[in-house]
Amino acid sequence: MSGVNEIRSSFLDYFKKNDHEVVASSPLVPRNDPTLMFTNAGMVQFKNAFTGLEQRPYSTAATSQKCVRAGGKHNDLDNVGYTARHHTFFEMLGNFSFGDYFKDRAIELAWNLLTKEFGINKDRLLVTVYHTDDEAFELWRKIAGISADRIIRIPTNDNFWAMGDTGPCGPCSEIFYDHGDHIWGGPPGSADEDGDRFIEIWNLVFMQFEQVTPDKRVDLPRPSIDTGMGLERIAALLQGQHDNYDIDLFRRLITASEDATGVAAEGKARVSHRVIADHLRSSAFLIADGVLPDKEGRGYVLRRIMRRAMRHAQLLGADEPLMYRLLPTLVAEMGRAYPELQRAESMISETMKLEETRFRKTLERGLGLLDEASAGLGEGDRLDGETAFKLYDTYGFPLDLTQDALRPRGVDVDTDAFKAAMERQKAEARKHWAGSGDAATESIWFEVKDKVGATDFLGYDTESAEGVI
Ligand code: ATP
Ligand code: MG
Ligand code: MG
Ligand code: MG
Repeated sequence: MSGVNEIRSSFLDYFKKNDHEVVASSPLVPRNDPTLMFTNAGMVQFKNAFTGLEQRPYSTAATSQKCVRAGGKHNDLDNVGYTARHHTFFEMLGNFSFGDYFKDRAIELAWNLLTKEFGINKDRLLVTVYHTDDEAFELWRKIAGISADRIIRIPTNDNFWAMGDTGPCGPCSEIFYDHGDHIWGGPPGSADEDGDRFIEIWNLVFMQFEQVTPDKRVDLPRPSIDTGMGLERIAALLQGQHDNYDIDLFRRLITASEDATGVAAEGKARVSHRVIADHLRSSAFLIADGVLPDKEGRGYVLRRIMRRAMRHAQLLGADEPLMYRLLPTLVAEMGRAYPELQRAESMISETMKLEETRFRKTLERGLGLLDEASAGLGEGDRLDGETAFKLYDTYGFPLDLTQDALRPRGVDVDTDAFKAAMERQKAEARKHWAGSGDAATESIWFEVKDKVGATDFLGYDTESAEGVI
């Protein structure tokens, strides 16, 4: 059985053998795009190479890219712990062609890797194409020999990718693996597609048009290829697992978490261990790339992730900071592939310890309040917005932490009332200041208050559509 580290290498070696330049992962904080919160796909570092703004010394490339999807348009935070296939941090394996090869070669390369090199049973694979993309449909028939009933035409934007409102765009084709009918879920395009039976492993984007204005689209003179495959998902397949959290890497992280807490990953504790293992990775990699917990922006997303992990540590009964104790296991597993993790290890460790120590007391008190306030609530009920706001404002509970805490009981939060409470508090504060006569101090105070109060509690929705495949 190949471990994650070998699978990453064999992916890169395969593309190297097929004339691709192996390029290092770019950092999680995108250098070239202030509108994008975190790098969330392999193509992010190549955006300008696709548009032709930047010339690279190669026309084809392959990467294993660090990605975080915990804010903005692609936010998988709420899925973590519950689905078999989502992480906040994951590695996206990808191959790219900048005006070099196109659909036929991209399909051939992907198919050969999966079925020949990796030996995946092709009868378990299904593909989707954009509903009007007859060319891709025929190529799948011809190159892969897939029968027509296993090629699903999808009419939605799930199978049409665009860099933004204007710029390169084109249809995509996704490869799915059927884990069998003992798992709930339907094929792509069906009503039950969100289940975990059919798992999407690889997305091939065929950049063939340029959107010039909202209603004018022209053919790109040199079409390009952008693909992305989740390393953890392909590893699960190759290791005979259905669930990403059962791959070698996650098993070791979860075992470390079990050892440190003395609680087995069974029953209710299972979700907590999964969340902790996942959030350990995103927190550590974000800190290694220079993000620190903060009241707003990227730092606030990091804080939300860390605090959510801390609540799960608390659920497991950990009465000492936990995350930093698991860090050595992560560094041992991933530090060779990502030396920045080794370099930043002591800084990450200190940051985790500090954040966890600081939050511990208010976490306990906040959870006490939450228990009281939600005592009578059950499936379908909602926690009032005032309580959620008090938890946020006084106890430092990000809204999603409160939501996550109530989720197992099927209880929701009245988010409109939460927002209203926040607005009310701001207005109230302004009223108290009115008439103090010192306009200059007042405006500075409000600037600060707005900045701090306007924390990114509902996500970062200024993110552009860019960089998302
Ligand atoms: P899904 O529909 O399962 O959420 P996606 O369509 O959002 O996936 P893409 O944007 O197409 O994913 O990203 C390319 C590949 O990256 C996916 O095919 C999948 O293998 C992997 N991937 C995407 N999101 C995640 C995640 N949150 N955790 C792990 N792997 C992911
Ligand atoms: Mg998704
Ligand atoms: Mg998808
Ligand atoms: Mg996809």
